[in-house]
Amino acid sequence: MNCQICQQESEKYREEKLSGDLKIQVEAHLQQCAECAESYRIHSTADSIINQERAILPANDLTERIMDRIEKLEDTGNKNSKPFLRVLQPVLIITSMAAAIFIGVLIGNIYKPTGTVISRPVELSLIDDATIESVDILSNE
Ligand SMILES: [Zn+2]
Repeated sequence: MNCQICQQESEKYREEKLSGDLKIQVEAHLQQCAECAESYRIHSTADSIINQERAILPANDLTERIMDRIEKLEDTGNKNSKPFLRVLQPVLIITSMAAAIFIGVLIGNIYKPTGTVISRPVELSLIDDATIESVDILSNE
């Protein structure tokens, strides 16, 4: 038996699905080949860990207990938040947002450049783009 065949049959050997001659050959190879023996050891360790994980099953009443806990939490949650608070909460949020906007506008109005007022040249104050290039005039042509 060579290493390749041993590796191929290793899984069946670990699951004890090998019979007779092939099983004896694999066992003989594992005793003489350190590499395959190490591979076999690693795989069987992994197998046993996987089997242990499978053995851990949730308790039968786990779902029941979780649902009970959720119901209790919902009950206490409703008791804690009084009905008028639940109505008041969105109102509070809206009023606080409105207050924030109002304060923002106020601050914006308070701040005005106090420096010297730059006098505009007369030519610029005469220019009114809206009357010079009216869109209505252009669209009628
Ligand atoms: Zn080998």
